[in-house]
Amino acid sequence: MNARLNSASAATAHQRQWFAGLRADLADGGDFALVNADAPQEIFRTMGIPYVVNQWWSSIVTAKRRAQDYLELLRARGLPDDSEQYSSIPLASAFDPDPASAPWGGLPRPTIVLAETTGDASRKIFDLWGDQPGVSFYPLESAAENDVPTRWWELMPRDWERAVGSDRLDLMTGELEGLIRFLEQTTGRVFSETRFAEVMELVNEQQEWNRRTRDLIARARPCPLPVNDSIPSVMIPQWHRGTTWARDAARAFHDEVAERVASGTAVRPDERLRLMWIGRGLWFDLDFYRRFEESHGAVFVWSMYLAIAADGYLRYGDDPLRALAARFAAFPDQLYTPPWSAEWYVKEARHHGVDGVVHLVSEDSRGSYFTTRALEAAGIPVLELHADNVDARAADGDGLTRTVGDWLGTLTLSDRAAGG
Ligand code: SF4
Repeated sequence: MNARLNSASAATAHQRQWFAGLRADLADGGDFALVNADAPQEIFRTMGIPYVVNQWWSSIVTAKRRAQDYLELLRARGLPDDSEQYSSIPLASAFDPDPASAPWGGLPRPTIVLAETTGDASRKIFDLWGDQPGVSFYPLESAAENDVPTRWWELMPRDWERAVGSDRLDLMTGELEGLIRFLEQTTGRVFSETRFAEVMELVNEQQEWNRRTRDLIARARPCPLPVNDSIPSVMIPQWHRGTTWARDAARAFHDEVAERVASGTAVRPDERLRLMWIGRGLWFDLDFYRRFEESHGAVFVWSMYLAIAADGYLRYGDDPLRALAARFAAFPDQLYTPPWSAEWYVKEARHHGVDGVVHLVSEDSRGSYFTTRALEAAGIPVLELHADNVDARAADGDGLTRTVGDWLGTLTLSDRAAGG
């Protein structure tokens, strides 16, 4: 099955058009934000401040094979090129002597950058952004809680106060109030609570569609779509969340998957192995995911992008600002902090009936050891690939392909019974 999902093509086309419009709008200057993926973009959406997601830009630069040029720009300034490359590559665009040659015409220069300070390196990357002329950095704290909820994915939509903890929510709600004041003062725009409530409602609707889609794929045998179609279909609307376009795109994605399931469309009708990819997208080689279909009947049925959309974003409640704080106060925990993350990956592996997990472990990924251990304890075979998702220097696509191919050859029927 080779036909691309319409929703994947439509999302990519929309993103290109939107980006061209953004560049035109900002040609004579104007407010523009660069925000981290796991930061509360909903505030910007409400206030009509355009933004681009830091890691999304990094993925575009990498997919266009410019990651090494950007890393070189960092190196030339004496900055590390081997730490948190996924987050630092966009910083290099501020030092680009030839910005017009950049992918998609180049990233407009932000006036505001927003990030959660989840690690020493990410704080430094954004401090450097804040040192650029005309750029203000608004940092958000990263807090932790001693008590870890079990089965957080069941609590989060409505019982988030219990799941995240009141202290963390107090802290982030206060910071968001500060962010709104800061944006009102610096941009002259006004934050409307009515508009904000609408944005929050649209986001929940969008993620409900993603949840249905995730569940459809989990149950479908064989898998109805390749994972590299699901990534743009879910992530591009995710970066536009809070708009009717994004909500409708998530719904269109769902309907297309439902239609494929109903008509029995399959990536491989002779699917023999269902695989889960844990880790960030392998942006320098997105075809990688399809390389084992013919040779091993192995289909990647899972990536975290759709799954975290399904389980990680829904937040209902009468206080939209606190609900937004609840969406992000524990966001990195959901994906990267054991036992939060490890238990969730095991749950998702079982939900999708996978036969094995390919686990991309980057230098900076947190909690990988525990994720692998939890999956193996649940009887699910795991292959750890030690590589960076945007920097192909350490392990190129060919090397990774050989490693995964060899491992798939070792997956036996008894492994599969244990995993399924
Ligand atoms: S892959 Fe992880 S670090 Fe990268 S954008 Fe998504 S959540 Fe953030």
